[in-house]
Amino acid sequence: MKQHPYLTEDHEIFRKSLRKFLEKEAVPHYERWEEERMIPRSLWRKMGEQGFLCPDLDEKYGGSGVDWGFSVVINEELERVGSGLVGMGLHNDIVVPYINSFGSEVQKQRWLPRCVTGELITAIAMTEPGTGSDLANIKTTAKLDGEHYILNGQKTFITNGIQSDLILVACKTDPNAIPKHKGVSLLLVERDTPGFSRGRKLNKVGLHSQDTAELIFEDCRVPKANLLGEEGKGFLYMMDKLQQERLVVAIAAQIAAEIMLRGTIEYVKSREAFGRPISQFQNTQFKIAEMATEVEMGRVFLDQLIAEHIGGQNVVTKVSMAKWRLTDTAKKIAGECLQLHGGYGYMEEYEIARRFRDIQVSSIYAGTNEIMKTIIAKNLGL
Ligand SMILES: Cc1cc2nc3c(=O)[nH]c(=O)nc-3n(C[C@H](O)[C@H](O)[C@H](O)COP(=O)(O)OP(=O)(O)OC[C@H]3O[C@@H](n4cnc5c(N)ncnc54)[C@H](O)[C@@H]3O)c2cc1C
Repeated sequence: MKQHPYLTEDHEIFRKSLRKFLEKEAVPHYERWEEERMIPRSLWRKMGEQGFLCPDLDEKYGGSGVDWGFSVVINEELERVGSGLVGMGLHNDIVVPYINSFGSEVQKQRWLPRCVTGELITAIAMTEPGTGSDLANIKTTAKLDGEHYILNGQKTFITNGIQSDLILVACKTDPNAIPKHKGVSLLLVERDTPGFSRGRKLNKVGLHSQDTAELIFEDCRVPKANLLGEEGKGFLYMMDKLQQERLVVAIAAQIAAEIMLRGTIEYVKSREAFGRPISQFQNTQFKIAEMATEVEMGRVFLDQLIAEHIGGQNVVTKVSMAKWRLTDTAKKIAGECLQLHGGYGYMEEYEIARRFRDIQVSSIYAGTNEIMKTIIAKNLGL
């Protein structure tokens, strides 16, 4: 099968200009951003100016009205620079689509154009200190008081947590609902809303340039008009949108695996031991052959899946399969590639060291790989 069957010449032209942009605006600065633990807002604005944020949105909201293949290209090129740019993919393909799908026309007009220009950075806050996988069990509450919801609770591990201007917060508008998920709603909280503050910027094992933070809501007064869609439907909205989120994670894992493998093939050809390149040892060749096979099979499955997703098919089970398998494979490849680099693999100067750290989280966020397996099993009728 042709790789990337859903991409046309237009997508590749777009890729070329994005890659050129990132080579100038991101690659030379990326290491510094990793040290500073933050990507500058100016990159968001520049991405927006060039049409690299939310291109799939309708033109009336400032987008280009193009298909999701362009978003695939963006996610791939961002990952090529470094996994620390994941917050942009989250903005483009995870948070903004909620507003686009479930927001009122007034909400869309109000926020979407500034999401496209990079003036508004978004985040989604589901996870709490006491609840991650068990989403229906969140404790953050929102109680209606006249024209406002009074939001109380704490969120953690929130991507773009420090920089975000608009945060989609999962909360309970009916904490006593049975079943529990029917009490979940989604509120859009803007920067500077009274009662909203940011907690610690979290110190992570990897994804150093990505800001991840705690958010605190103390009698936070959120206008009723900021409810997304209908009360009590938040869980259903999340189940709908988590598919694309998981697909984005799978895409990034596949690209990371491809990059790690390519870099390692180059390395083993140039490094010598016992008078010959280490690529001449049978162990090296077998490891590389095994990894190349995994990468190739992953690519074929992923490409087929993306094509089905773009075609509007129900891909819930296959997305869960891709998410666990591709991230799991990428983690194994990271370990094997690091080993083939010997001591240099453990040094920060070598990209494999950063990739090894960064890939670890891919089996945890967007739903852990164990949760992916529970979904697959359930959909198989177990
Ligand atoms: C870098 C980073 C960025 C993140 N960004 C965001 C974000 O932007 N927004 C957001 O809302 N969240 C975000 N998260 C949170 C992430 O989605 C959660 O960490 C994840 O869902 C797991 O929840 P938890 O950490 O509470 O683990 P837990 O749910 O406590 O799970 C702990 C372990 O138990 C296992 N487990 C739990 N339930 C089951 C089960 N039923 N069967 C088998 N095993 C099970 C898990 O698989 C895991 O191995 C981020 C996390 C990280 C690390």
